[in-house]
Amino acid sequence: MSQPTPAQFGDDRLPVRFWKKVNVQPGGCWQWTAVRTQDGYPKFRYDGEMARAHRLSYALLRSAIPAGLALDHLCRNRACVNPAHLEPVTSRENTLRGDSGVARNATKTHCENGHEFTPENTRMYRGSRVCRECRRQVGREQKHLRWRVSELNDAIAKAVTALREMQALEPDHIKAAQLYEIELRLRHAAGTQDEVAA
Ligand SMILES: [Zn+2]
Ligand SMILES: [Zn+2]
Repeated sequence: MSQPTPAQFGDDRLPVRFWKKVNVQPGGCWQWTAVRTQDGYPKFRYDGEMARAHRLSYALLRSAIPAGLALDHLCRNRACVNPAHLEPVTSRENTLRGDSGVARNATKTHCENGHEFTPENTRMYRGSRVCRECRRQVGREQKHLRWRVSELNDAIAKAVTALREMQALEPDHIKAAQLYEIELRLRHAAGTQDEVAA
């Protein structure tokens, strides 16, 4: 409120590694993509200490947070670090606004990743709303991960074969043992350490 122009994404009062963890959403939320607290608030290591990223963003890009005040997410998206979406309030006020528990869940308009709960994007599951876009993203990530794992396993299998050939050609038994050690590590990484050598 004290600031005439809203803070810009990428502002150099925050380090580059901060911005690398932020994803700008169509709705204007600056979505935190890195570590969060158990209750969903963004975490960021700054000045050697673990800080809440949204508080840091507000304090550095907007103004100091008065002692004892919490920051309310006006966008109802706890992972958002856009200082324009934050407002200092007493913690009692924050609770009354429904920032925790059932009240919050029923009134929030966006999922915790900043996708809007439109009828098309919402599915009910055991009485709570589930964001379809998040489900799709998780599905895509899992698919990508499975593909990465199979690529890695292929690469490891090739490396193990090459090591076997080197061991067979290696007259020095210490070197051969070292190569075998590497083979074991590779097999362990691939999750095939219990396989009987073919
Ligand atoms: Zn927001
Ligand atoms: Zn979502």
